[in-house]
Amino acid sequence: MNRKLFLPLGLLLTLCACGQAPAEAKTSQLFAMDTVMDLTVYTEADSLMEDAARLVSRLERSLSTTDSHSEIYKANTTGSAALTDSTSQLLDRALGFCEKTDGALDLSIYPVVRDWGFTTDSYQIPSQSELSSLLQNVDYTRIIYSSDQKTVSLPQGMEIDLGSVAKGYTSDRLIQLFRENGVASALLNLGGNVHTLGTKPDGSLWRIGIQDPLGDSYLGVLSTADQAVITSGGYERFFEGEDGTVYWHIIDPKTGYPAKNGLISATAIGSEGVYCDALSTALFIMGPEKAIAFWREHQDFEAILVSEEKEVFISPGLAGSFQLTEGSPYHLTVIGHD
Ligand code: ADP
Ligand code: MG
Repeated sequence: MNRKLFLPLGLLLTLCACGQAPAEAKTSQLFAMDTVMDLTVYTEADSLMEDAARLVSRLERSLSTTDSHSEIYKANTTGSAALTDSTSQLLDRALGFCEKTDGALDLSIYPVVRDWGFTTDSYQIPSQSELSSLLQNVDYTRIIYSSDQKTVSLPQGMEIDLGSVAKGYTSDRLIQLFRENGVASALLNLGGNVHTLGTKPDGSLWRIGIQDPLGDSYLGVLSTADQAVITSGGYERFFEGEDGTVYWHIIDPKTGYPAKNGLISATAIGSEGVYCDALSTALFIMGPEKAIAFWREHQDFEAILVSEEKEVFISPGLAGSFQLTEGSPYHLTVIGHD
């Protein structure tokens, strides 16, 4: 063998192997947006984890309903606010989702959520007259938003909250940051909102456990890559009233009461966290029939819907990738296209 040729080739092979070796996993845990966020990112760059933490706290500071520096706080307390690019972009998308879900998602539900005590954990069952009076100011179509000027104005008495979409938007922004910095593999868990970038470093799919809404274990496992997997459920934040009824934090804007329309959890899966976050909340509110009809109409996401009757409805695109836990008491049905 020609030694001159062999050496450089040997070096080249070594270099290539180094270049392709999977990056090391960096993990970090943040507490933001009232939840624990776990980030696992395959990267050599320590600074990227710091950039991620900064991005999350910047978004939280803009979107919080309680931080007096936030744009949403300003809009809620003074009736109008100038918005940063991120908040403007999120508000724009969120208003679109309110419309697309026919008002199941309504950003102006905030005063009702607060009256139930879900913002402070001092729970109470509001009176019917209190709810009726608060509901008079719940109507997202009256939010005045200018995408050109990046401003929002609210009618007297209205307050808004982007909590139903904030974590999904945040995971989109984190995935974008990681992708732009050459990361090929990451797993983000923002308080149960999962978002994956690429596959696992070995090329296999991520296996995401979907919470059993009636128990502590998993309903089933989803194999996925490059997707957001976002669940809304009544089990996430709730209290038991003196009347023995369980009340949860997802409110039906039609009634002002926690949505009890037949679903106990709704999971939306797709490439965009913000859309899946909006959908998981909205589908939960719609109940099984309307949620299935919504899926049939749009078909731009995948869904796992769990009913009170222990029926699990999945969209056909998940038939090969979602598996119920063995011995599960649930019954699985694949939604037909029409
Ligand atoms: P979580 O944030 O607990 O993961 P969701 O994404 O489903 O769950 O968002 C629930 C939050 O959205 C509630 O805590 C409340 O602040 C807000 N919310 C409740 N009902 C509605 C609604 N109909 N439209 C918009 N936001 C809502
Ligand atoms: Mg949501």
